[in-house]
Amino acid sequence: MKKPRLMTPGPSPVPADVLLEIAKPLIHHRSPEAVAIVVEVVAGLKYVFQTRNEILILASSGTGSMEAAVVNTVPAGSKAIVLDAGWFSSRWGVLCKTFGVEPIVIPTEWGQPVDPERVAAALREHPDTEAVFGTLSETSTGTGHPVEAIGRVVASSSAIFVVDGISGVGAMECRTDDWGVDVLCVGSQKALMMPPGLAFLAVSPKAWAKIDAFDSPSYYFNLKLARKSMKDFATPFTPAHTLIAGLKVALDQVQAEGIEAVWERHRRMSLACQAGVLALGLELFSSRPAEGMTVFRVPDGLKDSAIRAGLSDRFGITTIGGQDRLKGQIIRVGHMGYMDEIDVVAGLAGLEMVLNDLGYPVEPGSAVAAAQRVLMSL
Ligand SMILES: *Cc1c(COP(=O)(O)O)cnc(C)c1O
Repeated sequence: MKKPRLMTPGPSPVPADVLLEIAKPLIHHRSPEAVAIVVEVVAGLKYVFQTRNEILILASSGTGSMEAAVVNTVPAGSKAIVLDAGWFSSRWGVLCKTFGVEPIVIPTEWGQPVDPERVAAALREHPDTEAVFGTLSETSTGTGHPVEAIGRVVASSSAIFVVDGISGVGAMECRTDDWGVDVLCVGSQKALMMPPGLAFLAVSPKAWAKIDAFDSPSYYFNLKLARKSMKDFATPFTPAHTLIAGLKVALDQVQAEGIEAVWERHRRMSLACQAGVLALGLELFSSRPAEGMTVFRVPDGLKDSAIRAGLSDRFGITTIGGQDRLKGQIIRVGHMGYMDEIDVVAGLAGLEMVLNDLGYPVEPGSAVAAAQRVLMSL
């Protein structure tokens, strides 16, 4: 017997209640019952995102919301600042180029947080910038960026602040309105306790002014059309409404726990997992860890694939390795969404045994004890 334990930074485990809701017989997406679900889901998303801005729901993976944000807010020929600090944030630059927008790339070393001062300097140097594209939680490096501080900088300019919150929202504090996030992009399968297939946007009045100022070349991801439909809690095209019904159940669970308690649970899991990893003599990759995942360097002499296969073969624990230039160098462990402290403690116990199997010196219980010490002191 092997119990599946999905410990990746997306997808992440989905509660049985959510899966059962998704499995129910289909209703029609234009029926009053379906519309009533969207009404509740929009309210729930506003709560989770901490926003009064308009919410749009797309049938796509998270990247669909990123593409929608670029193609609707920045016209071809304009300039946008891209805060590139990893594999996912570099996607903003690719999207800009795809749609003829000139990306002013501010590169940050992978694993380091973006410095808000550099954003301020770039905005001074390029006052004609239409948008700043950033990230809450860079999933390729496990880094949380100072969105609040960057938001303050961007708010005093004419540019809008677009934030990829795909693995951050639901795991880390995100106060969309208070922090000046004009467009928040979120996907369903990271910290929202949902399968993949839905993407969300929260769009501020400052961003709508940019969107309304030109004709987006997009058809499926046209946010003007999406906004018009959403006035009636509908979408321009067939919504993934079985997933939306499941999302209502997931959001009910978040609301019952309270968003601040959800953030606190993730902070505890994150600090416990970091302590466990450090107690094993491993090195964290990020200097400012995101709270939905822990990323550590593969120790010298071991292969990431051997560690990950050991975790999976012996304990059913799925983790993920590095992307792009970090291939083979790091292991990324997710603890986001439907996960709790004891999942983290169990994962660390498994890691101890697998490292021991591979000949890495391990004092049994050392990672577990370090994690417990954190959890008992918080
Ligand atoms: C997962 C992820 C994406 C991509 O989302 P998809 O759902 O795979 O399209 C983008 N940005 C971040 C930060 C992510 O974690």
